[in-house]
Amino acid sequence: MSIIKDYYDVIVIGAGPAGSVSARFAAENGASTLLLERDQGPGNPVRCAEGVSHNGIVPFIEIDPKWISTKIEQARLYSPNGDYLDMFQNGTGYVLDRTLFDPALANLACQKGAQLLTKADAIGLIYDNDKISGVKFRYFDKIYDVKCKIVIGADGIESRVGRWAGIDTVLDLKDLDTCVQYTLTGLDISSLRVDFFFGREVAPGGYIWIFPKSKDTANVGIGIAGDLVTDKSPKEYLDEFIEKKFPNASVLRSVCGGVPTAKMLKNPITDNLILVGDAAHQVNPITGGGIVQVMIAGQFAGETAAEAIKANNYSEKFLRKYIKKWNNRLGANQSFMYSVKEKFMRMDNERFNNLVKICSAIPSEKLTLKEFFKTIVKGDPMMILQLAKAFVTSKLK
Ligand SMILES: Cc1cc2nc3c(=O)[nH]c(=O)nc-3n(C[C@H](O)[C@H](O)[C@H](O)COP(=O)(O)OP(=O)(O)OC[C@H]3O[C@@H](n4cnc5c(N)ncnc54)[C@H](O)[C@@H]3O)c2cc1C
Repeated sequence: MSIIKDYYDVIVIGAGPAGSVSARFAAENGASTLLLERDQGPGNPVRCAEGVSHNGIVPFIEIDPKWISTKIEQARLYSPNGDYLDMFQNGTGYVLDRTLFDPALANLACQKGAQLLTKADAIGLIYDNDKISGVKFRYFDKIYDVKCKIVIGADGIESRVGRWAGIDTVLDLKDLDTCVQYTLTGLDISSLRVDFFFGREVAPGGYIWIFPKSKDTANVGIGIAGDLVTDKSPKEYLDEFIEKKFPNASVLRSVCGGVPTAKMLKNPITDNLILVGDAAHQVNPITGGGIVQVMIAGQFAGETAAEAIKANNYSEKFLRKYIKKWNNRLGANQSFMYSVKEKFMRMDNERFNNLVKICSAIPSEKLTLKEFFKTIVKGDPMMILQLAKAFVTSKLK
């Protein structure tokens, strides 16, 4: 059992993908780094459908078949009237086993020099002369005060670190997808295809997904925009769907969770502190996919923290480098996706059926997500106007 030191250059709170990648890049770039995880280990419990693209994860970790549940070649989009479109991915996708993937990312951080503590629950920040100077955490039955120069808050959607530091982390209800997911078994499905079901009666402002873990097991879940959750709960929508689609299935696991389908926080930094991942709202606002986006942000957070240590400058002004890197890489895309989400996810059923009809003229081997949006724009004049407006707004804001 390694000894907890009195001081680290960087303390990362939360060992999800954002935290482990932040810790890895901070350590790799010379900062002494402590990574705190409150649960018994990274990836436990999993609150995720576990879908990622091959191209998204290879920059961060060598693929290990152990943490790949299935290889995905195709996506099927169902419109409200039951018609569907088959799309081939831009490259391979995977449904991961995050109970193994998240520990592999944390392990990599440790190999690069970070120290991981599990069952270590951060309970507050320490201040010296009004400046953040460390983290207070409970480790088993003892409370520790450990000093550092930079805190990285990677504590997920329910982040408290941001609030402790006085950062406004409030989400509009419409930008918080409420999710419920079962891992079902006893199914007869294709293990090569992910399915998405849209429509006001199916999942208002969101969708239902089927992500196969094998030929007979899948993550089947629903996400609904928070402001559209009324008398009928997401669980009720999902249960109705499953009753019709998989009446003989058994439930292996159930999870609930939230996804921040928002723009990134206006200011995810302050002196001596960076927020990253779900804690900073860095998810793709249309798909709700966060794993790859938060690893990219984690790299920027870890690198910036290590640069700050070298420069002996921990000011908010210096840490702006992190925001600049994010904006250059994903910022404009995320703003654009957010504007498109506002139009796309709230389309009425008739309009959605029509779009699927238009797109079904494209041979499925040519139908990628990019082609889907291009065709939508060509075939639906109202959508052209709305997307153009969204694009202009995202560029001008
Ligand atoms: C139902 C559902 C399905 C999803 N499906 C997909 C999908 O298919 N593909 C995809 O890309 N994304 C998906 N997402 C989103 C994805 O799961 C998240 O974007 C991603 O996990 C964010 O990573 P993170 O490291 O920021 O946060 P998390 O993965 O939430 O990790 C945060 C970590 O911080 C720890 N922590 C919290 N507080 C403390 C504390 N005080 N002290 C110490 N540790 C703490 C937590 O225990 C946790 O381990 C889904 C989300 C949900 C809810």
